[in-house]
Amino acid sequence: MSNRKAITVSPLEIEEQKHYIDELKNRIWGKGLKYHIVTYGCQMNVHDSEKLAGILNQIGYEETDEQREADLILFNTCCVRENAELRVYGNVGALKSYKQANPNSIIGVCGCMMQQNEISDYIQQTFPFVDLIFGTHNLHRFPMLLLQALDSNHTVVEVLESEGAVVEHVPVKRTKGVSAWVTIMYGCNNFCSYCIVPYVRGRERSRRPADILGEIRKLAAEGYKEVTLLGQNVNSYGKDLDEKLLFPQLLRKINEIDEIERIRFMTSHPKDLSDDLIQTMAECDKVCKHLHLPIQAGSNRILRKMNRKYSREVYMELVEKLRSAMPGIALTTDIIVGFPGETEEDFLETLSAVEQVRYDSAFTFVYSPRRGTSAAKMKEQILQSEKKQRLARLNELVNKISKEKNLEYLDRNVKVLVEGYSKNRTDILTGRTDTNKIVNFKGDTDLIGKTAMIKITEAHSWSLEGKVAETN
Ligand code: SF4
Repeated sequence: MSNRKAITVSPLEIEEQKHYIDELKNRIWGKGLKYHIVTYGCQMNVHDSEKLAGILNQIGYEETDEQREADLILFNTCCVRENAELRVYGNVGALKSYKQANPNSIIGVCGCMMQQNEISDYIQQTFPFVDLIFGTHNLHRFPMLLLQALDSNHTVVEVLESEGAVVEHVPVKRTKGVSAWVTIMYGCNNFCSYCIVPYVRGRERSRRPADILGEIRKLAAEGYKEVTLLGQNVNSYGKDLDEKLLFPQLLRKINEIDEIERIRFMTSHPKDLSDDLIQTMAECDKVCKHLHLPIQAGSNRILRKMNRKYSREVYMELVEKLRSAMPGIALTTDIIVGFPGETEEDFLETLSAVEQVRYDSAFTFVYSPRRGTSAAKMKEQILQSEKKQRLARLNELVNKISKEKNLEYLDRNVKVLVEGYSKNRTDILTGRTDTNKIVNFKGDTDLIGKTAMIKITEAHSWSLEGKVAETN
C-alpha cells in the first residue's frame, strides 16, 4: 500500500497514536516477540532509534542483539555518506532468505535515505520483501504504520514531504545509563553545498524550552548525570520561537537543574557561535569545556565553494576567543578532503589550519557526492585515489597532534564521569573528562554513575589510561 503524500503533521497526532499503541499491545504483549534495530549515521539518528525502541518496548517487543532472532528488524538509515548508503542496500538485500524462512517477520527501513524518493522507490522495487518504509518526518506515526504493515501483504510506504511539527512525548528507550541525548531542534537552514541534511531533515524547528527543560528534569530524576543537546546547528536554537529564548539562555536554565552535572551539545556552526555563547560556556560550571566546531576546510576558496559562510580568519578568531575565555578547552572538528576543485595548495591550507588550531581530535572524511546537492554537480571532481592519499596525510597529522594533546594529561589528576565497563575489556571502567577525553581505568563497580578523580598514567591518540587517584 503506497501512501506517499505531503501532509501537515499536527502536534496532537501523537495523542492519536496512543490508540494504535493500545491495539498493538493487545496483539504483541506477552508473546515474547523481539526486535533488532540497525542504526547508521549521526547521533540524531541514534536518538531517533532510541525513540523507535521506546515505542516497541511500550507495545511489548523485547530488544535482541541477534538480528536472526528478531521478529522485527528495522534499518534506520543515513544518507550523509555514500558508504552508509551502500551498506544499507547490502544488509537489507541479505535478509531475503531470512524473510522467506520467517514470513511473519517484519522488515522495516526508515530514516533520511527514505526521504529521497528515488531511494525509497528503489528499496521498494529491489527488495519487495520489505514490509515498511517511512521517513524522518513521521517517526511518531510508527505505531500506526506498524499496525498497517502487520495487516498488509504489500509494502507500507509513508514518506512525508512536509517537515511537520515538533512532536513531543514520543516514548524513548535510552541506551546509556549515565548520559542521555536530548534533541533540542530539528533540521537545518544552511545548505552547505555538499550536504543533503536540509533536503531530508527540513528547515530548522526548535523544541519549546518548557518541553526540553521538562525532559531534562525527568532524566535527572531518573538518575542521568549528563545530557548532550542535539541539533544540526544548536547555535541557532530558538531563532524560530515566538518566546525569545536563544541557545545561551537555554544553557543557563539547564545549568540550574540540580542533579545534572554535565551539559554537552553538538553540532555548532561557526557562523552562529556568538560572544554570548562563549561567555555562557565560560560562566556555566556544568557546561563542559569542549566544543565540536566543524571547520571542514582551511582554504577560503573551498569554504566559499562549500557555502560555509565564514572565512578561515573568522574561524581562527573564534578559536582565540574560546581559548582566552576558557584556557584548556578541548576543540574537535570535522574536515572534508577532496572537495570538487580542491588543489594541492588548498589541501595544504587545511593541513596548516589543523596545525594552527591543534585539535584534540577530528572526524575526517573524503568528499562523496550526494545526489541533489549543488556540489555533486560541480565540475573538477577529484580522483578517488587522490582523495584517499590526502585523507591519509591529514589523518597522520590529526593523530600525531591528538597524541601530543593527550600526552599533556600525563600524571595529571582529572575528574571522570564514570559511564560503565569498557566495551572490549570487562574488567576496566570507562568514562570521560569534562574535555571529552575517554579514560579507562580499574575500579569498583560502585563508581559507575559517579565522578571519580583519576590519575593519568598512559596516553594514546584516542584515549587515556589511569588509576583511581589517592586522596589525602
Ligand atoms: S550546517 Fe551545513 S553541514 Fe551541517 S547539517 Fe546544515 S547544511 Fe549540513
